Amino acid sequence: MLNALQTRILAVVAFLVAVAALSSAVWWFGYQSALDQLEQRGRSDLALASDRLTGELSRYRELAVLMADHPVVAAAVDGRGAGAADLLRETADKTGSLDILVVSRNGGEVASASGTGAEAHGTTPYFDRAMDGALGIYHLVHDRYGQRTFLFAAPVFSAEGPVAGAVIVVVNVDAVEAVWRGARPTVFFTDDLGVTFISNRSELVFMARDPRAALRGDTAEYAQGVLRPFITYEARDQRGHSVWSVQGQRYVPQRALHLSLPLPVIQMTGEALLDVAPARLLARLQAGVAAAICLAFGAMLFLATERRRTLAEANARLETAVEARTAELSRTNADLRHEVSERIATEAQLKKAQADLVQAGKLSALGQMSAGISHELNQPLMAIRSYAENAEAFLDRGKADVAGQNLGRIADLARRMGRIIRNLRAFAKQESEGMTDVDLSGVITAVLEITQTRAKTSGVDILWTPPATPLIVRGGEVRLQQVVLNLVSNAMDAMEGQDAAQRIELDAAMVDGRVELYVRDTGPGLDEPDRIFDPFYSTKQVSQDGMGLGLSISYGLVQSFGGMIRGRNHPAGGAVFTVTLDAAERAEAAA
Ligand code: ADP
Repeated sequence: MLNALQTRILAVVAFLVAVAALSSAVWWFGYQSALDQLEQRGRSDLALASDRLTGELSRYRELAVLMADHPVVAAAVDGRGAGAADLLRETADKTGSLDILVVSRNGGEVASASGTGAEAHGTTPYFDRAMDGALGIYHLVHDRYGQRTFLFAAPVFSAEGPVAGAVIVVVNVDAVEAVWRGARPTVFFTDDLGVTFISNRSELVFMARDPRAALRGDTAEYAQGVLRPFITYEARDQRGHSVWSVQGQRYVPQRALHLSLPLPVIQMTGEALLDVAPARLLARLQAGVAAAICLAFGAMLFLATERRRTLAEANARLETAVEARTAELSRTNADLRHEVSERIATEAQLKKAQADLVQAGKLSALGQMSAGISHELNQPLMAIRSYAENAEAFLDRGKADVAGQNLGRIADLARRMGRIIRNLRAFAKQESEGMTDVDLSGVITAVLEITQTRAKTSGVDILWTPPATPLIVRGGEVRLQQVVLNLVSNAMDAMEGQDAAQRIELDAAMVDGRVELYVRDTGPGLDEPDRIFDPFYSTKQVSQDGMGLGLSISYGLVQSFGGMIRGRNHPAGGAVFTVTLDAAERAEAAA
């Protein structure tokens, strides 16, 4: 697997290779199109140069033809040559010809502008052409003039018809060439023997492509000695263009596009060498621009991808961090849920424990009271027994009315016992949860009935005046009885055995829309008022059977009714407990 760095390096290298390939292609196509244009321009230049040469030469050709018709020339051919030389000289001067010759039928020269002397033309190809009645064209290095010449030989027809002789116009090639020497491009004209005869670069003249080539000349003087080997070059075909790599030449471009144009009129081939350096420079420029654009674009692309990659990496890091954080949060969440469910379970356990405690508290209270209760029931029973025995005796004595009174008392006592038992049963029963409207006075009366015997035995005064209007509160009747019973029992416990007066005052009233119950005693007061509601807090002797649960259970019960219980010491001595409860709606309405 390649890592990210290697991948990037590979991409950059591939891109550079692609750019190199593209710029090469641009270079190649640019070069080709530049060569095409160069060739187009070169061809027109070459055609122009050729036209100038052929145009220049055609002047002399026409001169030869015209002169052939001249009567003086015709006479000269016939051997009546007086005055011909003057005409020829004059014409040569005016036309700039090197020489004009009149040749007789046998090839002998009868007159000439230069007057140099007789020369035999009999075997020359141009004279043969003229004798055939056509225009002879020839070029050669003439030893008579010592330079390159172009010859036009026009036939001179006799009055009878056949060719009687010829007029030869000799053209000075140097003069023709001088007009465009040094002009661009390099142009040269080669003859059928492969020798450069005319050129706008004088260095190229007399260069022969074939080392064995001969130079056209009148004598051997101009033979091989004048000829030089042609420039060294290597021709390469570039998509239809012939490009020469030329070596060691100052006057010919090093790399040149070679063009050629056949010129049958003067029996030569025109050739041109055009410098391809500008074309190459242009192609290089185009390739360079293409490469620069690609590189700039690539660099931009690279920077953009780098930026994107960096952003993506940062994003990935962020996402990982977020994922980790999310996982952590989920774990915390799960922990919290677990804790919550544990708490709910604990709460349920607590509730159950509380309910058990309520029951336990009740049982404990029941145990406490059982002695008193048995006493409570025993007393009326004893009374009933004595009333029954008395009634029996009175009946025997025939005192039916007194016996009836006794029976009435028995009935009262039995009713009272029944009430006590009913209260006890209700107290022992575990009340199902839920709240109803409860008459607070009824609750207090029931508690006082249960504790009445103990109060009497211990010499406790209980002061309780039920209010004129019933005080209806929200709560559970039995649980409320339990709370009040606990307060009254605690007060009796606290005052037990004291010499001072033992008194319990109960009072209930409506205060600010709520019902308040006060239980005040004349005992020693609370030792530690802040701790009395703590579970298992008890100052009682073992003999008094204190469990320290009564007040804490009462606290929980009153709270479950939406109420409140408080305990404090009265300034005048003794403890005061206040129970605040919600008034039932109808009680509120009544108030
Ligand atoms: P127990 O009665 O089993 O001790 P309680 O919760 O009912 O448990 O009472 C806790 C303690 O509060 C008692 O032991 C006592 O010290 C104190 N106490 C309660 N009521 C009174 C009172 N009327 N006078 C003085 N102390 C009291």
